[in-house]
Amino acid sequence: MHFFRYRGNELFCEDVSLVHLARRYGTPLYVYSQRTLEQNFRRLDEAMAPLRHLPCYAVKANSNLAVLRVMADLGGGFDVVSGGELQRVLAAGGKAERCIFAGVAKTEKEIAQALRAGIYCFNVESVPELERIDRVAADLGTVAPVAVRVNPDVAARTHAKITTGTYQNKFGIAFEQVEGVYARAARRRHLWLRGLQMHIGSQLVRVDPFEQAVRKVAPLAHRLKDRYGIEFFSIGGGLGIVYEQALASGDPAWWQSPQGRRMLTPEVYARRLVPLLEPLGLRILLEPGRFLTGNAGVLVTRVEYIKQTGSKTFVIVDAAMTELIRPAFYDAYHEIVPLRRRKTPAVVCDVVGGVCESGDYFCKDRALPRVRQGDLLAILSAGAYGSVMASNYNTRPLAAEVLVSGSRAALVRKRQPVEAIWGLEQLAPWQQ
Ligand SMILES: *Cc1c(COP(=O)(O)O)cnc(C)c1O
Repeated sequence: MHFFRYRGNELFCEDVSLVHLARRYGTPLYVYSQRTLEQNFRRLDEAMAPLRHLPCYAVKANSNLAVLRVMADLGGGFDVVSGGELQRVLAAGGKAERCIFAGVAKTEKEIAQALRAGIYCFNVESVPELERIDRVAADLGTVAPVAVRVNPDVAARTHAKITTGTYQNKFGIAFEQVEGVYARAARRRHLWLRGLQMHIGSQLVRVDPFEQAVRKVAPLAHRLKDRYGIEFFSIGGGLGIVYEQALASGDPAWWQSPQGRRMLTPEVYARRLVPLLEPLGLRILLEPGRFLTGNAGVLVTRVEYIKQTGSKTFVIVDAAMTELIRPAFYDAYHEIVPLRRRKTPAVVCDVVGGVCESGDYFCKDRALPRVRQGDLLAILSAGAYGSVMASNYNTRPLAAEVLVSGSRAALVRKRQPVEAIWGLEQLAPWQQ
């Protein structure tokens, strides 16, 4: 479900025309729908209502302060993976005691920062990290709340670059070793064994891998609760979204249709997992990223040129892999639609950016309605892992971001001035 719809022949975000926003703020432009963010959050939250639970938004999916504020206002917690993300959450009005801190490479400085801020828990990825957290906590004269990230070694059946829960991945501690690690950690005076965590991968569109992982790990969580009094079990994020029929999926009826039912919904997720989790009597944490923000954002871009080479048609746009790297990085599919719908025949084309890389494309050999130079397009489902993975490659300024709520629209990130790109650079003294 989302709130990007055609009204007549013009694409709207909630009650705001995207053509209007493109004129006002320029392109490329990310546009986020607050109502979609809220609805996604509430839907998951309500599905999990039978459990004592807390959705901790995975900040890395979209860390714009305004997006974080929406999550904080909904009562969400946060899953951060760096000291920078923790600072962002606090800057956006989020609370440290609702933050969990993941990531395989936490530095001493980040650990100290998180302890001083008073985070809810560290999700620990290795034994040396546990030792480091114990030491930093001792230096600060405090006790650090920790949960071990267990690697359950189940296949998530998603793209290799977003599979995290097998022994081929760098994440977590092997299932068989976890109890030994808790036993040793329990003897350290500055660690507080507060929970257990796992996360098996991203963009999962089947519930079975989640169920398999929970079935495997829940008995472990139970034993750790009995032995060490842990209070929570985080089952991670990874709920997938609809990319292939992104526009149609905005229609509530779509979710009832046969193709809609093939999608993993929060209700199906909850129906399978709640009965397995309820008997634990633990607080259940969720770490959704993409599910909350993915379909709540689009990337608006303008057609710069149409280029024919031999048998191919290239639609060259002003957005590029610098704004949305997912097609290049994950072979990802993103639906592309015109902001103004016209009755034109379909043309098979590649939509590409202007960066000097053959990997810089948004789609290949796709039948799209014929477009002309100057037309505006929306690349859908760009709300997660879009702006956060942007770069200045080719000295392209970071794009602007707009948040829409009903008939209101606000700039929530200004377009980066080009001079800011080299603002921290300087000539060597011998060059002056
Ligand atoms: C990336 C990540 C998430 C969020 O994944 P989504 O697929 O966006 O839900 C949650 N937990 C951890 C530990 C992660 O690394």
